Amino acid sequence: MKKQKKTFILDIEPKQLYSELKPFISEKYKVDQIIQWIYRKKVLDFNNFTNISKELRGNLSSSFTITTFTNVKKDESVIDGTVRYTFKTYDGKYMYAVLLSNENKKTVCISTQIGCPISCNFCLSGKTKFVRNLSSGEILEEILYIENDIKERISGVLFMGMGEPMLNYTNLKSVIKTLISKKEMNMGKRHITVSSVGVIPGIKSLADEMFGIRFALSLHATDDKQRKKIIPNNFGNTIADLLSACRYYLKKTNSKVTIEYILLKDFNDTSADAHRLARLMKAHNLINPDVQVNLIPYNETNSFDYKTPLQVSVLNFKKMLKLNGITVNVREPKGLDIGAACGQLGKV
Ligand code: SAH
Repeated sequence: MKKQKKTFILDIEPKQLYSELKPFISEKYKVDQIIQWIYRKKVLDFNNFTNISKELRGNLSSSFTITTFTNVKKDESVIDGTVRYTFKTYDGKYMYAVLLSNENKKTVCISTQIGCPISCNFCLSGKTKFVRNLSSGEILEEILYIENDIKERISGVLFMGMGEPMLNYTNLKSVIKTLISKKEMNMGKRHITVSSVGVIPGIKSLADEMFGIRFALSLHATDDKQRKKIIPNNFGNTIADLLSACRYYLKKTNSKVTIEYILLKDFNDTSADAHRLARLMKAHNLINPDVQVNLIPYNETNSFDYKTPLQVSVLNFKKMLKLNGITVNVREPKGLDIGAACGQLGKV
């Protein structure tokens, strides 16, 4: 594996920088200036830190680096302007982030691992063989790179790219701290969502930390046998276990929970499924304004046989949930033409 020669500064938690930079800088305010350049102004080259001395810039550049990605490739959707970024990591691997734009808001969907150890059998992002966790710095670099590229602030982050965030929990936590810290990225907690296939210790820890961010569960089924078919690596959790964890998250954090439900044609898109989902949510006290169901009509890929459901099944499913008092949204696919939509982040 190719090793980096310089220390990757984004891997150091900002509050550790005061001690890490001691050999170079003795005044605290100068470290604050560096934090500002990186995390507030998103400048990713020490040479452009204009309010610090040339000598210090030189010293920092010879010991540290702010970037590790090379060969960044950008693909832009002609349908909706969504941009898929392909990043090559320092050890020559590829991973992806997606920039989603609407009128006044930019959101990024980022990866937390290279490949995915869960490998749900409908998901292309998960079909890529698991290689390793991304470091906290690499995860932050995805966001900072894009902000620097578009010269605009990103207001929302979805941990919904490649990988299972809860299996990279330590780095996930460190990134969240930097995102919500007023001194660093200063992002609104409610604009950050972590999605998980259902790693219960991770969900509980995230709840106990009480960051106030949103949690999304990839549920996708209404009975355990059905779920096991599409998510074989379910850690032995039942749907009841997962919904109880959602309840715990809500109670602990006062934040919101999303239940993600992919609709697969003739597999989990019937009226009976919709009824079962409503019953399950009722039984777990999850029918309330803080819980929303996102229906995701399956995005077809060449690698799997699952099909997108008929429009009428989607509308029927939505109606049934609504009638049960559930807040429900149908997610429009974004960036379908460039392989940027949910579950499409594999090598194209
Ligand atoms: N591993 C985490 C984070 C990935 S989020 C998780 O499972 O939640 C990506 C979301 O897209 C998940 O809900 C996933 O199940 C969904 N997805 C995967 N393949 C898809 C496809 N082809 N069409 C629509 N959604 C898909």
